[in-house]
Amino acid sequence: MMDNFDVAVVGGGIVGLAHAWSAAKRGLSVLLLDRDPQACGASVRNFGMVWPIGQPSGDLYTTAMQSRSLWLELSEAGAVEAESCGSLHLAYRDDELAVLREFCAGGTHACELIDSQSVLAKAPFVQCESLLGGLWSSTEIRVNPRQAIPSLLDWLRNNFRVIPMMGRTVVDVSDHFIESSDGSRWRADKIIICSGSDLRTLYPEVLQKAGLRLCKLQMLEATTNTSLPPAAPHIAGGLTLRHYKSFESCRSLDALKQRIERETPELNAYGIHVMASMLPNGRVILGDSHEYNEAISPFDKSVIDDLILRELQLLLDMRMWSITQRWHGIYAKHEALPVFHVSLDDGIEVFTGTGGAGMTMAFGLAEQAWKKWESA
Ligand SMILES: Cc1cc2nc3c(=O)[nH]c(=O)nc-3n(C[C@H](O)[C@H](O)[C@H](O)COP(=O)(O)OP(=O)(O)OC[C@H]3O[C@@H](n4cnc5c(N)ncnc54)[C@H](O)[C@@H]3O)c2cc1C
Repeated sequence: MMDNFDVAVVGGGIVGLAHAWSAAKRGLSVLLLDRDPQACGASVRNFGMVWPIGQPSGDLYTTAMQSRSLWLELSEAGAVEAESCGSLHLAYRDDELAVLREFCAGGTHACELIDSQSVLAKAPFVQCESLLGGLWSSTEIRVNPRQAIPSLLDWLRNNFRVIPMMGRTVVDVSDHFIESSDGSRWRADKIIICSGSDLRTLYPEVLQKAGLRLCKLQMLEATTNTSLPPAAPHIAGGLTLRHYKSFESCRSLDALKQRIERETPELNAYGIHVMASMLPNGRVILGDSHEYNEAISPFDKSVIDDLILRELQLLLDMRMWSITQRWHGIYAKHEALPVFHVSLDDGIEVFTGTGGAGMTMAFGLAEQAWKKWESA
């Protein structure tokens, strides 16, 4: 068995897969290790929303759009199913509409303000009462994360010199060697650690001082027996406007934030904003909440699920939907950067902390890192 590789990647989530693809495209041999038989971290627990609209204009939006093109490239190559569905931010209150109007007027993102009739034409399943209009953006993509992650791994294995070794916990990395808990050892010129929210196993001394926070999100899945239109857009509402950095440039956002704190402080207590992604199989991924560090408990809170559903019902006609799954996911997030990246001795790169935007940013961030390494 080959035990000497150009590159070894620790972690088979989206960030590890992005690096494996970037390396493999350059003709390099890649060993990809994950401690689980199938990756089961944040990358399979998310909405599967590729969400450029959430990134502020400038480098981050450019990176998100680069990732978007790479998802579409993978889809065309048959590696994953990625659907160009776009997104709608719905407005039911004047302060929500004001933020959407100001954001559109800024002209930084490819989006437009549309009236309530046009919203309903694109998304007949949204609540029509009191609907004032919405922000339509065509740049968002949907993947089913539970399929996309294993499918991309298979495609890499079948089309490149990528060898996955699943079910191997890496316990030591030094001097170009990687060792797993069963005593196996491999050598690689470059070793990229993409260990997601695990800040304790590899390089804890680096990761615990890196300005990373852990964040827990509660999620639900609904099954609907009503038919959803093909390529139904992702849905978000006014609460989401206070969550993504792209809207921070809007002066009108303060009034919306103050109203939410005044009327519904319980949503801020659990970091709740609500979104929905309609999968083609009639299932809808719903969420979410945000609890950080010490507030993270292994036990999910039914009060959070109830609040998420209460807020979603203001946006969506869910009368024929039933909740079929509940779960939570945890990601690591850097305070200021889209990813925490540090180069250590012996060709070791640590690359983690993509926060709530790893599906949106990972391919672009990995490609940019590889371009830099190539030219160094
Ligand atoms: C509920 C939820 C919803 C989200 N929704 C979205 C969304 O819609 N759009 C978006 O852009 N982003 C979203 N995100 C964020 C996105 O999912 C993350 O940023 C991204 O998945 C992080 O990828 P990762 O590869 O770093 O981590 P992970 O997916 O957690 O992968 C890390 C992998 O490393 C492995 N590992 C760790 N340590 C070792 C070791 N020592 N040896 C071997 N293997 C190891 C783990 O087993 C794991 O498989 C969401 C996140 C969550 C939790």
